[in-house]
Amino acid sequence: MTDPVSATATWIFADQLGDHFVDGPSDGPVIVIESRSALQRRTYHRAKAHLVLSALRHRVRELGDRAVFVESDTYRAGFNEALAQLGAKPQDVTVRAPTSYGARRLVTELGVQMTAARGFVATEEEFSSWASGRKRLVMEDFYRLMRRKTGVLMDGEDPVGGRWNLDADNRQPPPRRAPSLGLPEPWWPVEDDIDEQVRRDLDSWEADGSVTTIGADGPRRFAATRSEAANAVEDFVTHRLGQFGPYEDAVMASDWVMAHSLLSAPLNLGLLDPRAVISRVEQAYLTDQVPLSSAEGFIRQVLGWRDYVWHLYWHLGPDYVSQSNALQAHTPLPDWWQHLDSGQVTAACLSHTMDDINDRGWVHHIPRLMILGNWALQQGFDPQETTEWFTRMFVDAYPWVMAANVIGMALYADGGVMATKPYAAGGAYIKRMTNYCSECDYRPTQRVGADACPFTSGYWAFLHDNRDRLNGNHRVAQPLRNLDRLGDIEQVVLQVSERGSTPP
Ligand SMILES: Cc1cc2nc3c(=O)[nH]c(=O)nc-3n(C[C@H](O)[C@H](O)[C@H](O)COP(=O)(O)OP(=O)(O)OC[C@H]3O[C@@H](n4cnc5c(N)ncnc54)[C@H](O)[C@@H]3O)c2cc1C
Ligand code: SF4
Repeated sequence: MTDPVSATATWIFADQLGDHFVDGPSDGPVIVIESRSALQRRTYHRAKAHLVLSALRHRVRELGDRAVFVESDTYRAGFNEALAQLGAKPQDVTVRAPTSYGARRLVTELGVQMTAARGFVATEEEFSSWASGRKRLVMEDFYRLMRRKTGVLMDGEDPVGGRWNLDADNRQPPPRRAPSLGLPEPWWPVEDDIDEQVRRDLDSWEADGSVTTIGADGPRRFAATRSEAANAVEDFVTHRLGQFGPYEDAVMASDWVMAHSLLSAPLNLGLLDPRAVISRVEQAYLTDQVPLSSAEGFIRQVLGWRDYVWHLYWHLGPDYVSQSNALQAHTPLPDWWQHLDSGQVTAACLSHTMDDINDRGWVHHIPRLMILGNWALQQGFDPQETTEWFTRMFVDAYPWVMAANVIGMALYADGGVMATKPYAAGGAYIKRMTNYCSECDYRPTQRVGADACPFTSGYWAFLHDNRDRLNGNHRVAQPLRNLDRLGDIEQVVLQVSERGSTPP
């Protein structure tokens, strides 16, 4: 990839909507393609389809006369039409390296000048040089390198406050006997004529059968423009960041946002530069608006996890998602899961999570990992189908986020390349970190019988079924010893297999 030499126009994709993705001439034309086939290929959540179209069209309006906006069946056809309108050749156009293998292949085939990716803190070269020769790519090591490189929350060579990791101060369970964290309602976008048009278009495409979506068509909850994204950042920093650290790992049935930022969607659309978000959060700590545990906890997510996940997508290669299935998991996703049908589900944690996804196409990190990922892991859901499901259901999902989060972290489908052990957990852990169990018909401590928590029985059955694959992993040695002490494991395994794909 090179600097654009003689480009006269820039091409941006739908997740490259900030100014930092435009590196052709500063007043030159910007090609924006709305490809219908991208929507037709899969059944996306309605909220996701709406958000992406709304954000793209808002960007076109912002660009005004500079926008060469083409609505087309495919990117290839749209690009050729844009070239014809401009009277340009492919090599006159520059594009920032797109965010998937498929899109990078396409722009290479088209002969467009491709420059280095934007939207992350570390460059691809910086990550490669850190990763080369390492046996394990530990996120904490990468994060510390990035803290040193950027100087964020640093006091010379040392971390501000003397500790790199303040997880011990965080990770609190939800407050007992309170329905919510009691924080002010987040800032919400106000829909406009562009959203109205998007809604009309989606309705008419659904009516003529060319596009299908799933999930509720609720009000748009996520920022679709740079100024909306800036409002969302300020609202988060002012009202919720202070509580982010302590409650980042907790879940409350009646408080779907808690102290989370809701910034993944605008970050992944390219509306926000992560460095600016990190710097705003650091400033909030330096001016005593928020405690270090919250500022560090949040910066760890963006400077650490988000960048690490992005770079791993490229580092692990184009076959990582399609070829990983170390646990030989082949269960197809059941219908109730595919259709977000909570009506058939008794387990309060799963039922609430399905409802939340249906309503908004978003739940925070812990339901994704501890409820959805954990269930998919225990049930042996096919990793590729599960990845596809996450990509379609979540407003902030893109191929690059799926690799490490779904294949590596949630499903352990790579056999331990990314995570040191499978993230399997029984009902006792869910009870500690959520308030779902008190309103559930099942009992988190029970593993057999009509009241048995399906996560608890599923946890033991998972360990039993995968014992041979997990033997030798010292992080699972204790759980395997506990498994050996269970006198009723055969009953547990039988119960789980008899339930099959029946909604839990
Ligand atoms: C199974 C699974 C699937 C996920 N799918 C997605 C996805 O499709 N898109 C996505 O952006 N994130 C995904 N995540 C990571 C994380 O759950 C979301 O980034 C977060 O819940 C978004 O909400 P928020 O903006 O309020 O985040 P906050 O809790 O406020 O966190 C701040 C920011 O940190 C970043 N971040 C934190 N953890 C991660 C991570 N593991 N990977 C990437 N970014 C991270 C996000 O940009 C997020 O906005 C997934 C995690 C798991 C376990
Ligand atoms: S008892 Fe089990 S199924 Fe019910 S909410 Fe708790 S963890 Fe979920």
